[in-house]
Amino acid sequence: MERIAIYAGSFDPVTVGHLDIIRRGLQLFERIVIVVGYNPDKKGCFSHEERIAMLRKCTEDMSRVSIDSWTGLTIEYAKKAGACAMLRGLRDGSDWQSEQRLALINRGLCPEIETVFLTAQPEHMVVSSSAVRELASFGAPVKGYVPECIEADVLARFRRT
Ligand code: ADP
Repeated sequence: MERIAIYAGSFDPVTVGHLDIIRRGLQLFERIVIVVGYNPDKKGCFSHEERIAMLRKCTEDMSRVSIDSWTGLTIEYAKKAGACAMLRGLRDGSDWQSEQRLALINRGLCPEIETVFLTAQPEHMVVSSSAVRELASFGAPVKGYVPECIEADVLARFRRT
């Protein structure tokens, strides 16, 4: 059976850290489904459509990666998709605290689906979507934080506001 992993998040916007987890995840799984959380009441910085469009651009060359959106619990999506794992990235202790809790809750809901953690690359330790938003909002460069192909999209979003 095909080994599918779910990589869920808000991706507001996608960063080089996220992309690295996806690339490395592809060595472990046959297929990765990126699930973009959708909550109509919680408006992020980038619209749901913008986040998906940027993810598409960054994963264009990855034939084993697909993108979907979901409003419910991601573990429910994983069950529905026949996934064997939830893929997560870990930067530091504070990621671990929240990720461990999430993994245990998900295990309680669905013990057959394992959470697999990949350690962030040292150069991605300070990379986060919120850091990108903050830098871009002050007109600072986001080079090295987001994939090159979406740098202009990220900066353009802030020039409009
Ligand atoms: P959320 O919206 O829940 O904060 P994100 O969309 O930021 O989640 O991230 C999704 C996953 O990617 C999480 O497991 C998070 O720890 C991981 N991640 C985020 N940034 C990085 C990074 N720079 N390096 C490695 N993993 C990361």
